[in-house]
Amino acid sequence: MRFYNTLTKKVEEFVPHNEDEVKMYTCGPTVYHYAHIGNLRTYIFEDILEKSLEYIGYNVKRVMNITDVGHMTSDSDTGEDKMLKGAARENKTVWEIADYYTNAFFNDAEQLNIRKPLIIEKASDLIEDYIKMIEKLLDDGYAYISNNNVYFDISKNEDYYKLSGKNSDDLLIGARDDVEEDEFKKNPYDFGLWFTVSKFENQAMQWDSPWGRGYPGWHIECSGIAIKHLGEHLDIHCGGVDNIFPHHTNEIAQSEAFLGHKWCKYWLHGEHLNEETGKMSKSKGEFLTVSLLEEKGYNPLAYRYFCLQSHYRNQLVFSYPSLDTAVSGYKRLLSRVNQIKNNLSGDIDFDQVSKYQESFKDGLKNDLNTSTSLTILYDVLKDEALNNNTKLYLIADFDSVLSLDLLKEKEIELSLELLSYIENTINMRNEAKINKNYELADKLRDELKEKGIIIEDGREGTTYEIVR
Ligand code: AMP
Ligand code: ZN
Repeated sequence: MRFYNTLTKKVEEFVPHNEDEVKMYTCGPTVYHYAHIGNLRTYIFEDILEKSLEYIGYNVKRVMNITDVGHMTSDSDTGEDKMLKGAARENKTVWEIADYYTNAFFNDAEQLNIRKPLIIEKASDLIEDYIKMIEKLLDDGYAYISNNNVYFDISKNEDYYKLSGKNSDDLLIGARDDVEEDEFKKNPYDFGLWFTVSKFENQAMQWDSPWGRGYPGWHIECSGIAIKHLGEHLDIHCGGVDNIFPHHTNEIAQSEAFLGHKWCKYWLHGEHLNEETGKMSKSKGEFLTVSLLEEKGYNPLAYRYFCLQSHYRNQLVFSYPSLDTAVSGYKRLLSRVNQIKNNLSGDIDFDQVSKYQESFKDGLKNDLNTSTSLTILYDVLKDEALNNNTKLYLIADFDSVLSLDLLKEKEIELSLELLSYIENTINMRNEAKINKNYELADKLRDELKEKGIIIEDGREGTTYEIVR
């Protein structure tokens, strides 16, 4: 498999640290509000990545966090606390807000057939681990205490800017007016590991620590959770492009300082979904959620299809007309698959199966080119030399990655079971006809009819239709 690695700025061959298991970490949602469909584009990309790795033959251990503490409205340490903001908005406690929006997130993800990662860890559940890491960073001279907060000292890290490709001057020039300077930091890009002094007196999420009662910074959570569950060598770390700086930059700095060696080899970032008017946000205009799409009559999977048509590293602009185009494409796809399902014939041709599987894999292996893989699916559908059982087999196989419900799970069970029953009965009937046992042949046809399966003898053999 080949990926574009943000760390090296090149497309590289993927070689996991240990071939037996790919260790993958993906940043999870900050649960102070619903996820917008832009956020969910990133989770669709990560879902496809995990399923593609599995399809190609890797075992994947994937971990994701739920950010329920420490994330400010600015991705550096400034601005309001996102969770407190959510709680104030809805007159609830931060814990209630976290629970509610965590559930909402997984409901939305399920509607989009995004599989739950194997391990999901709430940031607030691993406080002891972050404290131990911070203690070591302090002992080793990578962190300092100032104004009773603990900060990471970026000047101790040689390659601090390697992921973002920026340099400190760029960042200073680009620094926005609304980023308040924290006078207690040695360098403006030092970041908080532990806060005991906060301007939010009503910060409800607080824990005891060697530096006083307080709470962890956002970045240390992801390092702590990833290292706890995936060990010292991470293969893949993902997120949206906005995570490159400062979040992932800071994760690398503190994880490598803590471990004393390189940490994660491949960094993959999904580009944003934008609105025609610009960046998608949770506060601006119509708040685009999965529920809103559903209210407007859209099947969430049509949105998944919309995302799969473009490459994860390209920006994508959302508009209703472009979603409508995806809806028609998705509906046509489903109806073609349905026709095949209802007209099964022939033995599965496994040579053809492997040939198409290889082409499908080639798309995925090429930096997750899902649109190529979709094209291979269409090639299968229109290949006149393939019988319908072979097509059905390939559709089900490809859908293990695409997850577009091309054959609903229940229907697959039913259809495979039903399929062998129908085929056996049709074969028995054909044999009965050859043996001129018309009584048995009619009996078998009636038996099928009773089950809602109508058969028809034609030039290409016997076909059938399921009428109920
Ligand atoms: P958050 O819940 O804000 O922490 O973000 C969750 C994920 O969505 C992160 O991986 C972000 O990088 C990603 N993200 C944020 N905005 C967008 C967007 N407009 N399009 C795609 N992904 C996004
Ligand atoms: Zn993270």
